[in-house]
Amino acid sequence: MTTLLIAEHSNSKLSEQTAKALTAALALGAPVDILVAGHEAGAAAQAASQLTGVRKVLLADEVSLAHQLAEPLAATVLALADGYDAIVAPATAVGKTVAPRVAALLDVSQVSEVIEVLAPDTFKRPIYAGNAIQTVKTGQARNVLTIRTASFRPAAAGGSAPVETVAAAADPGISRHVGSQVSESARPELTAARVVVSGGRALGSAEKFSEVILPLADRLGAAVGASRAAVDAGYAPNDWQVGQTGKIVAPDLYVAIGISGAIQHIAGMKDARCIVAINKDGDAPIFQVADYGLVGDLFEILPELTAALPAA
Ligand code: FAD
Repeated sequence: MTTLLIAEHSNSKLSEQTAKALTAALALGAPVDILVAGHEAGAAAQAASQLTGVRKVLLADEVSLAHQLAEPLAATVLALADGYDAIVAPATAVGKTVAPRVAALLDVSQVSEVIEVLAPDTFKRPIYAGNAIQTVKTGQARNVLTIRTASFRPAAAGGSAPVETVAAAADPGISRHVGSQVSESARPELTAARVVVSGGRALGSAEKFSEVILPLADRLGAAVGASRAAVDAGYAPNDWQVGQTGKIVAPDLYVAIGISGAIQHIAGMKDARCIVAINKDGDAPIFQVADYGLVGDLFEILPELTAALPAA
């Protein structure tokens, strides 16, 4: 039994999602190799080699892999697949495009968004927007898994696995990278932030959202999130949306402000270690998942709370 983990990285930097997916991969109980497929990705490979529990790092360095498009990346994974019983990827944008392709080409069923490994062939995963947890036993000789990284702690640094260069498979030439639009922000990245402050429809306008939510986020050094209602109303940008159709976050602290707690929102933040809710309706469903709740008008509470906190 051996496991291949497809690394999430930006060529120069290894994403923390890789360290979290490694924890899941190690739970399969077999040696784990990490594939870093990219271009000029030596730094990411070095970082992967320092994660504890890794047997070796395979570095496939080729221009066609620079943007980790599903087609050339899947071809490289397929070329290596014979040596592995499980192929694992974090359930990120890259993982979610490449893993299904790998599974289809291997003619196996993929198990998506694994939140717990019970045995090498048995996994827990959320269904119905996280309202039910399904236990899946695959019975396949080889498993392809995507990992919901919010459910796993990152594997620690401290390893010194060897880095081996492997050949990238020939680019199938059926896709090409046209461009990337990356949103720049001085704040921590939403899915990796330790603290997230989120605002809902109650904010009432983009101006109020900025006026009330951002100062609190600044004080806490937090990333900013939003409910879908706030995003749809134009109070906050799309990439701030937390929930079933937005981002899945698992910070140490999640502050939900003027958010009712619809199941689709809760699906994106229920794994936070501590949830604080501020809502004027004491019966709002968000209080069912909150560790601390404050019932009151956010426009009164937030300025007071922000003023009481020391500057970050
Ligand atoms: P509301 O439900 O309108 O809640 C506003 C809350 O603010 C209320 O609880 C109210 O009591 C409180 N409030 C009002 N004024 C104040 C005040 N002055 N002070 C304090 N509290 C106040 N939603 C998501 O968030 N993320 C998703 O990814 C997502 N995906 C979806 C996917 C599908 C297929 C569907 C059907 C829906 C999805 N939704 C998602 C939408 C979801 O169902 C809710 O409509 C949405 O989360 C509601 O946002 P909200 O809590 O901001 O607004």
